[in-house]
Amino acid sequence: MPALPSNPFELVSREAKHEDSIVLVGDVAIGGREPVFCGGPCVVESRAQVFECARAIRAAGGHLLRGAVYTPSPSPDSSQGLGEEGLRLLAEAGREFGLGVVTEAIDLDTLMLAETYADCIQIGSQNMQNFSLLRYAGRSHRPILLKRSPYATLAELLGAAEYILAEGNEHVILCERGVRTFESHARNTLDLSIIPAVQALSHLPIIVDPSHGTGVRDHVYPMAMAAIAAGAAGLVVEVDAGEPLRNSRQSHTVDTATLDLLVRDCRAVARLRHSHSAALAPERA
Ligand code: PEP
Ligand code: MN
Repeated sequence: MPALPSNPFELVSREAKHEDSIVLVGDVAIGGREPVFCGGPCVVESRAQVFECARAIRAAGGHLLRGAVYTPSPSPDSSQGLGEEGLRLLAEAGREFGLGVVTEAIDLDTLMLAETYADCIQIGSQNMQNFSLLRYAGRSHRPILLKRSPYATLAELLGAAEYILAEGNEHVILCERGVRTFESHARNTLDLSIIPAVQALSHLPIIVDPSHGTGVRDHVYPMAMAAIAAGAAGLVVEVDAGEPLRNSRQSHTVDTATLDLLVRDCRAVARLRHSHSAALAPERA
């Protein structure tokens, strides 16, 4: 009988690779010293909306444009996204403003289509344990942004990432986006303590989504700052630029002025953190 592996997260573990992985999305490096800023509308709804968001992200000094064109909606009657037309808009806006594009896939068909337009494929929180989709993502030539399910433990998140690496794709970025707790002051409880916990166990970069992580517009900036202070490799923030649209302006989107401040101030926090990192973790500095 073959011996059981001693570590269930062999490939994602620090034992497999001691140094931090840097994942390239287009030419943007995630996991290095510079925090990466990814933003966009929740759902792609119009050309003007996508271009206004892209302009705002670029102006703020961000790197990546993210938007959903296939939404895992809770009801089949609600908006399902623009599909391929939305992918075209994202790709065009990304090119125009020099931003890499990130979009969500929800099954094999949407993964294959998204790969042809986007630089990075998101597996959303609701699909974190969709093991067949994880395997397909593992065969993709695109990097994968894997969001933690609100019900998943750290071990389950790493287990999901292991599925992707096991198929040969080592370009995985983890994302904390809040978990369900008894607390009701926010939509989710943003578990920032998972950042150092992931970093102790895994070489994969972890970024944070303070938008879904709180569900509260006014909490996005402070939690973004806290995430970078805790060592996040970047942020995913939902932005409300241009005219408000039906599905995009949600309780957690930030306006462009807040986005500008957030990017500027998070960069300052990252610089401060790196100036102290040799003392904090000399082996990884
Ligand atoms: C999203 O990124 O727009 C999204 C719906 O995120 P999550 O899967 O984390 O809820
Ligand atoms: Mn969203």
